This record gives sequence, structure tokens and C-alpha cells, in this order.
Amino acid sequence: MIKNRKYDLVVVGGGIIGTFCAYHALKKGKSVLLLEKDSQPHEASIRNFGQIIPSGQSLDTWFQLGRKSLKIYKELQEESAISLTKNGSWYIASDEQEMAVLEEMASQFQALDYASNVFSAEATLDKNPALNKEYVKGGLFLPEEASINPVLLVHQLREFLIKHLGLHYHPSCPVISVEKKRGIAMISTSKKQTFWGDHVILANGHDTQFLLPEHYPTTDLKICKLQMMRLVPQRIQFSANLLSGLSIRRYESFKSCPSYATLKTSDEQKVLQSKGIHILLKQAEDGSIILGDSHEYVSASDESPLGFEISAEINELILSEAKKIVTLDSWELDSNWIGHYLEAKQAEVYTKTIDQVIHIVNGIGGKGVTTSPGFTYEYIQQLYSI
Ligand SMILES: Cc1cc2nc3c(=O)[nH]c(=O)nc-3n(C[C@H](O)[C@H](O)[C@H](O)COP(=O)(O)OP(=O)(O)OC[C@H]3O[C@@H](n4cnc5c(N)ncnc54)[C@H](O)[C@@H]3O)c2cc1C
Repeated sequence: MIKNRKYDLVVVGGGIIGTFCAYHALKKGKSVLLLEKDSQPHEASIRNFGQIIPSGQSLDTWFQLGRKSLKIYKELQEESAISLTKNGSWYIASDEQEMAVLEEMASQFQALDYASNVFSAEATLDKNPALNKEYVKGGLFLPEEASINPVLLVHQLREFLIKHLGLHYHPSCPVISVEKKRGIAMISTSKKQTFWGDHVILANGHDTQFLLPEHYPTTDLKICKLQMMRLVPQRIQFSANLLSGLSIRRYESFKSCPSYATLKTSDEQKVLQSKGIHILLKQAEDGSIILGDSHEYVSASDESPLGFEISAEINELILSEAKKIVTLDSWELDSNWIGHYLEAKQAEVYTKTIDQVIHIVNGIGGKGVTTSPGFTYEYIQQLYSI
């Protein structure tokens, strides 16, 4: 192991933000060291649903960053072995108002030159045999959208960077302090190693209390706890990822549709929304179904009220709503997990530069898989244009 070496860029945190920052800097010919506290990254970037859905993002910057990300994922797939499946996404309307929102959304996507097709209830059912007739009032299909396998993606990308672009990587290497010294960044680890970088990017996820906590705002940043499950492999085949009426009500893009204001919410939907539940279904390569999810928020300054339990009540709410949407061969649970992410509510991401050389990049919230490749591309271009 090289001790005390100086790099153009040191990245702290081997999640999706940190790994893509490393990727774009390496592509610019920079020397990069990636430091990860665990033996394998296993936080949000590995626990997520794996959907790349620009269609759900606010229709300004983040929708475009999602599209840019799709392009980057596709390019990467051509040069590496990343697990990308271009299966598209379906939003399923459960009432006439949601259908009106989908139709308006499709017009906006057409104006933005983003492929989308509205289908009648009959055609939607025809294309998605798992869907229940009673639930479906129609659907919107986004053929460009894709999925990654979150358990593999970050590891595959990192291995590619090590092998082909010269990334230096130290796992099991918790960073305990970062400061500017002699005009550059000095990074110290709990193993008493010191590294130096012209720049350091802190992409350390939701644990904001350890590294430069004084540089995080006390308001605006939230931690979100999500609950997801995997159901045993099924014979029935999903051709695409399925998103529900509650997703139409939850995702930012749909709020720009005039009919969004006409959506009526039943008492049952209010109970689900109080736990941040919307239903997403994705079939993994082995035929199992990933089903989620819920969202519970607290201030980033104190995560403890979220608790560590997997809630049986939330599982039950997700399962009973999902059963209204699809019929599966089996609802047997294979596994169940929680994940956390940091979310900057106002700016949709939190960035701060300290002493010209230390850069916090964090709080991308629930859109990190969809937008990180594009967002970090822009960030790295900007960093090296100064
Ligand atoms: C259940 C769930 C479902 C989701 N589904 C989707 C989805 O379908 N589509 C989508 O776009 N987004 C989704 N997201 C959001 C997405 O996963 C996150 O936005 C993204 O993973 C955040 O990445 P990150 O790199 O900022 O954080 P993280 O993945 O948390 O990575 C931070 C890394 O920093 C490391 N670290 C922390 N402190 C230190 C230290 N001191 N020294 C060294 N290393 C350190 C951690 O170990 C970790 O590996 C989902 C999230 C969850 C939890």
C-alpha cells in the first residue's frame, strides 16, 4: 500500500456518488484515490430499487440530468460489464384523474422529445399480464428507461475503474479527518494513514456527524428511512418495471400537470401516504420480485427517532396495496431490508466547497441511481474548469 501519496483527487465514500466522481475524474486523466470505510460499500447505493427513471424527476435540471445519466450508463455498458437492463417503466393509473395526469405528462415528454406512449386500460393489461383488471384505468410507458442491479453496479464499476482507468482503492479505510494543509487537502484515516489530494470530495452519505459536521446546514437536510422486500422467484414474467397510482401522486414531474390538483385522495391512500408508501415492482434476473417502498423522514441532526426495526405494519400495508395491483404466483417473502439516504430538500443536492480544496457532495435523496452519473459529470467538469 502506498502511504502518504498525493493524488489529484481523493474521494471519500464508495457509494454511487463517490464512484461516479472517481469515474469522471479518471476520464479527465486525473489520478484518483477512493477511500471506503467498510470492506464493501453496503449503504443506499447497494440497498436501492435500481430504477433509472428521469420521468419521475422535476422537469428542469434533474430530468435532464437523468437523461444524461441514462446515456452515461449505456456508454459504460458498452465498455464494461455493468448490469444495465433497458426494460422501460410503466406508470399505471388507478382512476380517471390519474389517467388525465398521465396524458398531460405524455404531452410534456413529447415536447421534450422524450419517448413516451399512453395506453388504454385494455392495451396496458394486454402488455402486462400480471396486472389486475380492477386496478388499471390505463398506463404510460417510457421505453427509454432502465434498471441496474444495485447489488452489483457500484462494485462492477469500481472494478472496471481499478482495472482499466488506474483507480487506487482502499476499502476498510474510515476517514476521520480532512483539512487543508500546505495548500492542499490532508486526509487522515482511523488506521493512522495520511493521504494528500489537490482536491478531496466527501461523498460519505447519511452519516454527516463525523466529518466536518459544522459544514452541514442544521435545517433543510433530512434522513429518509425506506423499507423494501424481495418476494420469491415467480413464473410470471414482467416485461418492465411497474409504478403505481401512488407513484404518480408522489413523483415531482407529475406535479407540473394541471390535472394533478384535481387528484382526490381516499382515506386508505392517506394512510399509505402517511408512511410515504408508493408501490414499485421490479422483476430481478432470477425471477424474484423487488417490491417497495416506504419513506419516513427525520432531521439529519438526529437519526435515532427512525429506529432500526423493519416494521411489520409497513410490510403489511405495502403487500396489501400491491395485491390490488398485480397477481403473482406467490407472495412469499424472500428477504426484507431498510435503507437510508440523506436528502437536501431545497436544492435537491447539498454541495459546499471549504478552503477551495474540500468539497462536500451529498444529499441527492431518492434519485441517486437515476441522476448521479449525469450530476457528477457536471460537478467534475465544473471542478476542473475553475
Ligand atoms: C431502499 C432505497 C431505494 C432506492 N431506490 C432508488 C431508485 O430506484 N432510483 C434512484 O434513483 N435512487 C434510489 N434510491 C436512492 C439512491 O440509492 C441514493 O440516492 C444513493 O445511493 C446515494 O448515494 P451516496 O453515494 O450519496 O450514498 P451512500 O450509498 O450512502 O454511500 C456513501 C458511502 O460513504 C461511505 N462512508 C461514510 N463515511 C465514511 C468515512 N468516514 N470514510 C470512508 N467512507 C465513508 C459509506 O460506507 C458508503 O459506502 C434508493 C435508496 C434506498 C435506500
